[in-house]
Amino acid sequence: MSPSRVYIGFGANLGDRLATLRVAAAELVGLGRIVARSSVWETEAIGPPPDYYNAVVALDTELDPEPLLDGLQRIELRHGRERGVARDLPRTLDLDILLWEGRTLSTPRLEVPHPRLQERGFVLEPLAEIAAQAVHPLLHRTIEGLRDDLVRARRLRRLQESL
Ligand code: AMP
Repeated sequence: MSPSRVYIGFGANLGDRLATLRVAAAELVGLGRIVARSSVWETEAIGPPPDYYNAVVALDTELDPEPLLDGLQRIELRHGRERGVARDLPRTLDLDILLWEGRTLSTPRLEVPHPRLQERGFVLEPLAEIAAQAVHPLLHRTIEGLRDDLVRARRLRRLQESL
């Protein structure tokens, strides 16, 4: 079976944010093969400060969606992420499945594409760096098109550091 291409969003806003993103990216090795990485972006938090660091990687994986989510949640837990607490609180590490090429999914645990992807500059800017022409399977729009449409409500800047 050939692998699926999946896009994973990373966010961190506590501790050494850049180190967390880099270590977490290295930890994806057990789940698939990273074939592209975005820049790191610094973005204003939706909840309380500090600012987030965000990035996106393209991963080729043989896993099904739920086992991939299990793997991502194990990585989050290793970075001290507390689960079950309120939304939008500061977190050491947040990993989301943004897009799964060629498929959509809606289960109690998993919605793909990520339901808020189109509203979020901190997802669309890094995603557009590595998947500008990928098509959102429900909105039938390219990522670049969605990015260009977004009214930028929040401060966002691309850093020099690489992931
Ligand atoms: P959050 O606290 O925002 O990271 O949300 C985590 C919860 O969202 C997890 O318990 C997942 O089961 C659920 N979830 C639904 N869709 C996704 C997705 N596309 N990627 C990651 N988590 C998801």
